[in-house]
Amino acid sequence: MSTQAKADPKAVTEGQAVESGSSQKKPSWANLSKQVSHGKFAGTIFQQEEEKQTAEQKWIVEQKLKSNFYLDDGVSKWKVIYPIANGERQSPIDIEPGKAVADPALNPIQPEYGSHCCQSVLNTGNSWQVNVNDKITKLVGGALANEYKLIQFHAHWGTTAGAKGSEHTINGRLYDAELHLVHWNTKYELFSKAVQEPDGLAVVGIFLEIGPEDHPELEKVLKNFDKIRFKGLKHEFDEDIDPTKFLPEDRTYWHYPGSLTTPPLEESVLWHVLRTPVQISQKQLNAMAGLRSGTEKCEDITCIINNFRPPLPVGTKRSVKLYNGKSTNLDRVNSVGANGYDDSAELKKLIHELKNEMATLKEETRAIRNKLDAQQP
Ligand SMILES: [Zn+2]
Repeated sequence: MSTQAKADPKAVTEGQAVESGSSQKKPSWANLSKQVSHGKFAGTIFQQEEEKQTAEQKWIVEQKLKSNFYLDDGVSKWKVIYPIANGERQSPIDIEPGKAVADPALNPIQPEYGSHCCQSVLNTGNSWQVNVNDKITKLVGGALANEYKLIQFHAHWGTTAGAKGSEHTINGRLYDAELHLVHWNTKYELFSKAVQEPDGLAVVGIFLEIGPEDHPELEKVLKNFDKIRFKGLKHEFDEDIDPTKFLPEDRTYWHYPGSLTTPPLEESVLWHVLRTPVQISQKQLNAMAGLRSGTEKCEDITCIINNFRPPLPVGTKRSVKLYNGKSTNLDRVNSVGANGYDDSAELKKLIHELKNEMATLKEETRAIRNKLDAQQP
């Protein structure tokens, strides 16, 4: 991570965010050396030599994690530093819609993101990341028992040549890319604390697929990419970007308990993966895949491509639930005006619909009364 990135506590992809909050948790070179000299298997010279090699391997992987997570089959090496990579609650997963049971306890997701909540966009070396002023954001509903706040969002993608790069897959099928809106549970007061709790984070995953049109809201982010070409570069927005506009109209989602998909892979995420994909253009995907994973001064001019982790087993201790309930008119009335943009047209439409509903109900009530009156002796 560059100095520039370090100065900003949110200058990270979902997993890296933890580094600033709990760096003592991460094994250091000094700790690894200690493990070599005091390791419980240290007995023979041969064993000591073997452990030294392991420590060196770890050190190499650790350095690698600081530069590019994904290069040289990096994903398969994460477990060397983060044993939780082999855990039972890891993400992403392959979602099999046929097996996902509708859960009536799930609610519609209700995001409320204040105007100008998006502050800047950063090249983390592994993705682009929009940093959000979380104080003026709110996410309730879904599988959440508390209020969560949006801290950042970023994406995962494949290559410009058509290799797909979503993290979650549907019956083994990948989408072109995937957007992650990362929220933290206000119950824990700090993001760095929340990330260590089983219900600490809520990530809304949105599949992106290539279509003929630019996505207008995403374009507001991408048009600044010439200013964040290299790792560590950050650009402040000078216009309002509304993260609500990345959500598809149909907010049917799959929910399951999972983890961060980047180191340190903490098993703290309540996933909400939206079923309906959102369209972006090929040009927009190319802009993402044109970002560089190295700093301006380093010689590494590799582009950020294939920055996704392949699916992990669902296992036997968890299952995927489906929310497919239609939101009621009351839900819609409650959400009007909460998104920080002008909803007056939507409100008029709703009032009209509610009036019609009331008229219908009155009609039905009158018909029932008439019927009862007719039955009276
Ligand atoms: Zn992500």
